[in-house]
Amino acid sequence: MALFQISEPGQTPAPHARRYAVGIDLGTTNSLVACVRSGVAETLPDEQGRHLLPSVVRYLAEGEPIVGHAAIAVAHEDPLNTIASVKRLMGRGIEDVRKLGQSLPYEFSRGDSAMPRIRTAAGDQSPVAVSAEILKKLKLRATKTLGADIADAVITVPAYFDDAQRQATKDAARLASLNVLRLLNEPTAAAIAYGLDKNPQGIYAVYDLGGGTFDISLLRLNRGVFEVLATAGDSALGGDDMDHAIAEWIMREAGIQDDADHRQLRRLLRDARAAKEALTQTERTSLHLQRGYQGAWESVLTRDQLNGLIDPLIDRTLPPCKRVLRDAGIRANDIDGVVLVGGATRIPRVREKVLQFFGREPLADIDPDKVVAIGAALQADILVGNKRDDEMLLLDVIPLSLGIEIMGGMVEKIIPRNTTIPIAKGQDFTTFKDGQTALLIHVVQGERELVADCRSLARFELHGIPPMVAGAARIRVSFQIDADGLLGVSAKELTKGVESSVVVKPSYGLTDNEIERMLRESIAYAREDEQARSLREQQVGADRLIEAVQAALAADGTLLDTAERTEIDRALENLKAARAGNEAARIKQAVKALDAATQAFAGRRMDANIRKALAGHKVDEFSVSPDKTPS
Ligand code: ADP
Ligand code: MG
Repeated sequence: MALFQISEPGQTPAPHARRYAVGIDLGTTNSLVACVRSGVAETLPDEQGRHLLPSVVRYLAEGEPIVGHAAIAVAHEDPLNTIASVKRLMGRGIEDVRKLGQSLPYEFSRGDSAMPRIRTAAGDQSPVAVSAEILKKLKLRATKTLGADIADAVITVPAYFDDAQRQATKDAARLASLNVLRLLNEPTAAAIAYGLDKNPQGIYAVYDLGGGTFDISLLRLNRGVFEVLATAGDSALGGDDMDHAIAEWIMREAGIQDDADHRQLRRLLRDARAAKEALTQTERTSLHLQRGYQGAWESVLTRDQLNGLIDPLIDRTLPPCKRVLRDAGIRANDIDGVVLVGGATRIPRVREKVLQFFGREPLADIDPDKVVAIGAALQADILVGNKRDDEMLLLDVIPLSLGIEIMGGMVEKIIPRNTTIPIAKGQDFTTFKDGQTALLIHVVQGERELVADCRSLARFELHGIPPMVAGAARIRVSFQIDADGLLGVSAKELTKGVESSVVVKPSYGLTDNEIERMLRESIAYAREDEQARSLREQQVGADRLIEAVQAALAADGTLLDTAERTEIDRALENLKAARAGNEAARIKQAVKALDAATQAFAGRRMDANIRKALAGHKVDEFSVSPDKTPS
């Protein structure tokens, strides 16, 4: 991630040629937009003067989604439609998302791709679409504040983001009609914000603990040029996890069972977070909990207790810190400065542990929440051509090794992790069978030796290899990574020159067509879209009910007399007919009718099941009509 200074003297643009470009920190928890105005980079507030936009989107059955504070305020009342921490899902396949655990309160549906979609009142939403809503909101804020249409942006991503996650971020920007000048690693942005390049030289560590990710990066500064020596981190560790630890403590203390519902969980997490943030300022904070009929619960959480709860989490940041030192071949006391980034680095205990580890007081004079957006704005200003005098080309490193599958399910690494980009690198391979004329290239990413343990990025085939004995053909596989960290792979047979290539477009990212379609729909077909969605939802609901009633009739039909049975059958046929039509309102009505017709039946089935469960006890005590006893 070196910053090269390319000077073109005398090329300062005329004032009228000035273009605004923004820097956007698209965070897991909070997002910000910043811009350089009159030579100063600053984050832009909303109309209420708030700089941080909570990265929370609430979908409604009708109308535009709500983004930010207004969404977070009611999150606990409408948890399934209120999407938070969507950054954790970006570029992840459905299997990855499952692995993230059950801590996510949303319901997922598998769409037509392997990309997970979240069920909401406004239909199924991809993480890319949810992120796009956040970006749109920030774009609108910038447009209003600056009084000009803003399209160009530098968007930051954690250094740990892989190709899929970067691609997903770019897709979200496109959906929000933003032109991405560059994706910039967050620590690089922080270094730019601190103007560390103004120092003569030094080695700096950037410690970024946000809501959902931890990144540690080592940068070396030499004559105005930054080089990234190493990066490491944990893409699933942050302040959110502290909130969970505190919420679990509250549950234990208050005797709340594990099966607390989504709403209660949200409210608990909100309280836990407030307590954590309060304890940054004070030594103790009180907790109040409404528990419905059980009455209120009150307690106190002290900073010492908090430290006990979060120490294991903070300690998890230390092995990656050790790893970057090892990767870079330096010791902690070779470091000239430690930069704090991310809201969670406000916590005194975090600062203590960072100081302890690196043996020096960390730099924190720029607001750790804003520092990344400010650096991104400075970079955007340069890239859009406002500062020809000291234009910089930013180089980054790849966070995970890239390679291809070879015989036996093994990985041959072509570009090792922490290589600076852009880069192109090739390696020669050969055939393993006599007369082999085609080769499958499987591109993988990861540090492990076995393909099964790495992430599959793409597969493509090279055809037209001249038939030769095994081992005679020479096939060069080349990897090129551009400045945004996106990968192109090509394979060429060297004797005959046949070639094949792929640009890695992760299977769970959106295709160009999908994005075009979504853009078109969102602009031109918003109404029709909504109607179609409503019809689809009604149809799905109808199918579920039909299936459920049929199963109930098969199992417990004997609980009904002839008249009742006839009525249910009629309502069932009516719904089936409505379901076959294309009218949402009619389906809705038929669902309601069948619901009503089966109400008594449902009650009776429950009674019967209780009877079964209590078999052997004195049945007379229970209010089951004797003439409806199952035969
Ligand atoms: P992200 O980069 O993931 O969007 P931020 O850098 O905005 O995250 O950090 C958000 C995290 O910082 C949240 O977990 C939030 O609770 C925490 N945070 C913000 N302010 C404070 C504070 N004063 N004390 C403790 N934690 C804080
Ligand atoms: Mg952040």
